[in-house]
Amino acid sequence: MKVMNTVADLRAVLSEARSVGATIGFVPTMGFLHAGHASLMEVSVVANDVTVVSIYVNPLQFGDNEDLASYPTDRAGDLRTCESAGVDFVFAPSAEEMYTAEMSTTVAVSGVSEPLEGASRPSHFAGVATVVAKLFSIVGPCRAYFGAKDWQQTQVVARMTIDLSLPVEVFACPIIREPDGLAMSSRNVYLTADERVQATVLRRALLVGVDLVESGETDATRVESALRKTISSASLAEIDYVAAVPAQTMVADGPLDGDVRLLLAVRFGKARLIDNAGCRTIST
Ligand code: AMP
Repeated sequence: MKVMNTVADLRAVLSEARSVGATIGFVPTMGFLHAGHASLMEVSVVANDVTVVSIYVNPLQFGDNEDLASYPTDRAGDLRTCESAGVDFVFAPSAEEMYTAEMSTTVAVSGVSEPLEGASRPSHFAGVATVVAKLFSIVGPCRAYFGAKDWQQTQVVARMTIDLSLPVEVFACPIIREPDGLAMSSRNVYLTADERVQATVLRRALLVGVDLVESGETDATRVESALRKTISSASLAEIDYVAAVPAQTMVADGPLDGDVRLLLAVRFGKARLIDNAGCRTIST
């Protein structure tokens, strides 16, 4: 495995790989890697000749009051995770390598980026779309692997990729969870012991919602109330949003019908956790 710090170095090794017909898999991350990230790498390693992982904490996707300054890092641990997943290249650029002082371009995706995370974190998805567009441009034609953990992000990236005709196939991979159901996240490290125990309520709430939809409930408000009620049983939980929405558009438009996504964002102290689950309405 090689670690590259510059765009030019990464482009050089990838163009050499392509010249002998190698296919490229790409996993963008912000580091502090866990088994959720490793699962994306493993899928890529199986499906492609060469796998690239980027590690870059993208300042553009953090709001002013968010955790950019305290975002956890562990470069040595990250490199071990990449190595044991069979990754070929790690791209770990400096802030200056990614954005010059003159950087004036933003990629904004409307529609799918507007509700939920977009409403709670106004500049977040423009920051995500901008860095992912840039990373796709640096890596070039590839298959790119994202986690369904960030469901809305994956929809935003998929929309952008189609709209800008980027030569990338985007895949959403399953959410990897701790044994007690908590979705793995770099931000789980912020949880105190009590918060960590209570945070398991999120998965339970999603499962209550899935059960309701799969037993015939099509009223999004009633599904959302059931999620809220379950989450409220955890005294340390502060709900940012819960939503039961069509899985692709993420905007409720009448009774739920077909593929549904249940999504939530809940704070436990310093940690803002997101999770989601898919389900399908009973066809009539
Ligand atoms: P991040 O480092 O948080 O930006 O995440 C990088 C990628 O890993 C994103 O595509 C995430 O959706 C994905 N990811 C994060 N946590 C998980 C998880 N628990 N299961 C699957 N994928 C995940």
